[in-house]
Amino acid sequence: MSTLASLAGEGRLSTGVPLAPMTTYKVGGPARWYLEAESEQDLVDLGRVLRHEPVPVLVLGRGSNVVVSDAGFNGVVVHLGRGLSGLEVDAAGVAAAGAALSQAALARGTASLGRGGLEFMIGIPGSVGGAIRMNAGCRGSETAEWLVTARVLDLRTGTIADRDPAELGLSYRHSNLGPTEVVVSASFRTVERPADECESLLREIIRWRRDHQPGGTLNAGSVFKNPEEGPAGKIIDELGLKGLRIGGVSVSRRHANFFVADAGASAQDIHDLAVEVRSRVRRETGILLEPELRFAGRFGEAS
Ligand SMILES: Cc1cc2nc3c(=O)[nH]c(=O)nc-3n(C[C@H](O)[C@H](O)[C@H](O)COP(=O)(O)OP(=O)(O)OC[C@H]3O[C@@H](n4cnc5c(N)ncnc54)[C@H](O)[C@@H]3O)c2cc1C
Repeated sequence: MSTLASLAGEGRLSTGVPLAPMTTYKVGGPARWYLEAESEQDLVDLGRVLRHEPVPVLVLGRGSNVVVSDAGFNGVVVHLGRGLSGLEVDAAGVAAAGAALSQAALARGTASLGRGGLEFMIGIPGSVGGAIRMNAGCRGSETAEWLVTARVLDLRTGTIADRDPAELGLSYRHSNLGPTEVVVSASFRTVERPADECESLLREIIRWRRDHQPGGTLNAGSVFKNPEEGPAGKIIDELGLKGLRIGGVSVSRRHANFFVADAGASAQDIHDLAVEVRSRVRRETGILLEPELRFAGRFGEAS
């Protein structure tokens, strides 16, 4: 029977792989075990081992919504490779995408064929898998509206199933996918739209982002979900917290729901700043902000 150690011995799993370069914050330690899955079979094989050797699992997409702990991840990190990044659009305009495909490539690939709807994904620097897990969205559109089904493989049980948005429990930046459930591919509906109209929409979205977000910095987008009371960034800004700093990380002066890291910042700094901002907002407004950012691995209590 295979074990994690034997898979590593055969070169099918790697060990001690640095994760910082695989995230947009560029912080955090290594993966104890690491699988670059190029096919569904690679995941099936790993699942068989994990069922008798259960260790924590982190599915890492493009790392644009994740902070990995400075100590790394003491389990298996699964990353989908190029073999799972295809894109095909059929005659009815249904786009079938591998979960490793970037959202930008999905937006561009469909737009270039005169199929609209997914343009909103152009500025979201994640993968198709991450879009589904987070129900990513912006400017009034979100993944749930366009998703037909996602093919999900559960490493814990070995089951593979196609799930629609209702079965995935998609709501604002939320799905019911658990840590061992891997989105392998997905299909999206699109609408007919001339390619030049799609192209100008893409350009407009890119321009809007450039004007409103702290581009060119180390960040992972919004730290907190917007509560019912209004945009989290506005609430944080109104408390005068722009520029608040812990270690190498500060609240962006451009957009208060983005935290920007200096080169050399730690994952713990990001964690501690999130705890500090959350507790100040709670104390001064009574609003409890819920993190959108996902923290993976072990973090110390904020001092
Ligand atoms: C500059 C910037 C701007 C952003 N703007 C937006 C925005 O406008 N709207 C928005 O919604 N988000 C935004 N984000 C956040 C982020 O890009 C999205 O949440 C994105 O969908 C995450 O995708 P990812 O592949 O990077 O996932 P990761 O960050 O790698 O992972 C996020 C979560 O998804 C899970 N996951 C990833 N891949 C899979 C898979 N194949 N199967 C199962 N689970 C998986 C991970 O386990 C983790 O729980 C922004 C981030 C940045 C850096």
